[in-house]
Amino acid sequence: MAAACIFCKIIKGEIPSMKLFESDKTLAFLDINPLSYGHSLIIPKHHGAKLTDIPDDSLLEILQVTKKLAAASGVENYNILQNNGRAAHQEVDHVHFHMIPKPNQEEGLG
Ligand code: 5GP
Ligand code: ZN
Repeated sequence: MAAACIFCKIIKGEIPSMKLFESDKTLAFLDINPLSYGHSLIIPKHHGAKLTDIPDDSLLEILQVTKKLAAASGVENYNILQNNGRAAHQEVDHVHFHMIPKPNQEEGLG
């Protein structure tokens, strides 16, 4: 945990979030500024800024949770995005995977 990290604060419950899934290693919650309906963030509870800071077993669970989350919410089309570093548009220095649903045109949104 990093005291000043916004996502560590979300893990600890110091900042509220709309939680979707939680285990001892992983937390999934809705993005506060969604790019589409259901835009979620899946994060390791282990604090680390970059992908290389996160243990492999935690990364594996994140991908497992991401696909189950999409399936459970009926999302068939989606992008997984993970930014590393400012030049790559990383704003929060706690590794996170975006799951961004891509609804069909006729469904509207996104
Ligand atoms: P990045 O650009 O670092 O890959 O994405 C950071 C994401 O975190 C953004 O999509 C932003 O909306 C989201 N975010 C930032 N602060 C908060 C917060 O306090 N709560 C939630 N739920 N999402 C946040
Ligand atoms: Zn953190």
